[in-house]
Amino acid sequence: MTDLDLRSLRLLPGDEKVVDKEIALLGFELGGQAYVPTPDRVTVALKVAQTVSGAVLHLRFAAHLTGPCVRCLAPAVLDLHIVAHEYQGSQPVPGDDLSTVYVEDDVLDLSQWAHDEVALALPEQILCKADCAGICPTCGKDRNLEPHTHEQSAPDLRWQALADLRDELTS
Ligand SMILES: [Zn+2]
Ligand SMILES: [Zn+2]
Repeated sequence: MTDLDLRSLRLLPGDEKVVDKEIALLGFELGGQAYVPTPDRVTVALKVAQTVSGAVLHLRFAAHLTGPCVRCLAPAVLDLHIVAHEYQGSQPVPGDDLSTVYVEDDVLDLSQWAHDEVALALPEQILCKADCAGICPTCGKDRNLEPHTHEQSAPDLRWQALADLRDELTS
């Protein structure tokens, strides 16, 4: 876990400072599948802008995740570019909901913040490509490699039975 003591920056109102920090990113689970950051260490750029009333925190980093495509299970990669902002009041009071949850006693929990931002940036479904055709539910073949459809014989038979009945009733 990577922390940053904001007091160590010694910022006065009007000052701002950019700090690069290397942090370890944990893996994520989505729909029962594991997505792993590769590399698992990323460098984040944190900009702290001090004002009279508090500090504005800007976080920026890129993350690269790999894991299975939810439709065909082929490897999928996800490139995320995270830009996030938080605010920390100088005199936080209990119940102060403007101030970030990632700062406690002037120490910023960079790892947790970065982890949460990646989680927020994850798409609902991770796909190998936007139009992945997926695995065929009928025969289990990868429809990206072998595009195909199946004759739907069962519904045809039912329709045929109805057609026969209609013919009987109307004749
Ligand atoms: Zn796929
Ligand atoms: Zn099939």
